[in-house]
Amino acid sequence: MSFSDVKPHAVSHDAVPPEPAAFPRSRLPVSPRLSVAALASLRYLGARPVPSILDAGTARFVTSGRVAIALALREMGVGAGDAVLVPSYHCASMIEPVIWAGATPVFYRIRPDTSVDLDDIAAKIDGRTRVLMATNYFGFHQPLAALRTLCDARGIQLLEDCAHSFLGEHQGRPLGSFGDYAIASSMKFFPVYEGGCLVSSRHPLDAVRLQSAGLGFEAKVVLNTVEDGFAYGRLPVLRALLAVPMMAKNALWGRIKATRHGAVQALAPGSSDGGFGFDPAWLTKRSSVFSRALVKIVSRRRMGELRRRNYQRLQTALAGLPGCRPLFNTLPDGVYPWVFPLLCDEPQVLFRGLKQDGVPVIRFGEYLWPGVDATVCATSVDLSRRVLQFPCHQELRKDELDWMIEQVRQHVRRGAPGVSS
Ligand SMILES: *Cc1c(COP(=O)(O)O)cnc(C)c1O
Repeated sequence: MSFSDVKPHAVSHDAVPPEPAAFPRSRLPVSPRLSVAALASLRYLGARPVPSILDAGTARFVTSGRVAIALALREMGVGAGDAVLVPSYHCASMIEPVIWAGATPVFYRIRPDTSVDLDDIAAKIDGRTRVLMATNYFGFHQPLAALRTLCDARGIQLLEDCAHSFLGEHQGRPLGSFGDYAIASSMKFFPVYEGGCLVSSRHPLDAVRLQSAGLGFEAKVVLNTVEDGFAYGRLPVLRALLAVPMMAKNALWGRIKATRHGAVQALAPGSSDGGFGFDPAWLTKRSSVFSRALVKIVSRRRMGELRRRNYQRLQTALAGLPGCRPLFNTLPDGVYPWVFPLLCDEPQVLFRGLKQDGVPVIRFGEYLWPGVDATVCATSVDLSRRVLQFPCHQELRKDELDWMIEQVRQHVRRGAPGVSS
């Protein structure tokens, strides 16, 4: 038994239920793992910092992005009888807090390039609408100035979902500074086990009071972060040093679990065993000291540069393959992508083949909220089904990236009609 069995929230990337046992473990880390380079990257010292949501305003560090969404809704006074405009391309963790707040999610359309359909939004604002939630998908920003203008003109508030855009700028301003409130998910960008933040460039956050989730939680976060790093050979020296204490810890944990099942379960509210992955108990909990320290220490310049470089490698290597194309044609300045999204003609076959061979594939938006179908937004249904995402995070090594690219090329070619491999 490992401490990894307990996690404050569902998988950070999406609302995808645990992988079927049929798929082997991914051969490379799907999200950033702790490395020595992440902490001590002298090359990037003194370099111009990459703008991030933390530059947008006051911040509160919580344990996940979904908790930050719930807090934002609470700060905006959203309650029963209110409507919140949400994108029809989404993951469950964006919608669950709206339901928790007692409000009705109203789904607006998005376009094939993932930008919001402003006309549809304008048409759907009515007397009940309090908030518009907009997501900078995969790190690519929305027409934020236009959204700001629309919200101001119609007297509603803007919630900027920066879960995919911890880093980035638009019109000389950091992403996260256009909304009344903005949220991010630290786990998607940093080598941390838990973490999200609520930011506001326009309102004080004094009413958001947080407390430590306790020593057990603090310890668990450190151990899991370090252990997750070991899993992909990131911290070999530390691993050797800690081999014995870790074994002792796992043995002890196994004993505790065996004897006190119920008590240990309580450490994992809203865990990832599927279902409703949002637990309001975490609304009052501060992110761990360890996660907050890492978010401060890890070089954002390194993270941003390497993400762009890896993304561009994927773009160059995977453009022009039969049966798929990059979702975005270019990587504009100021975009520091979360993942590399690939639009595929035969996503199911490809997904299964890749997973079987241990390739990390992410499917943000795979499951849409009940009722969101082609009559609501055919484009969202299409993106939900056809966009597969590949990691481009800063901790991928060149050999890992090359291996992943080769796997994707082979699988895509195999699946393409009339092409033999
Ligand atoms: C992951 C995600 C969230 C929620 O973040 P968590 O940290 O996983 O709770 C919110 N919005 C989007 C677009 C996401 O992908």
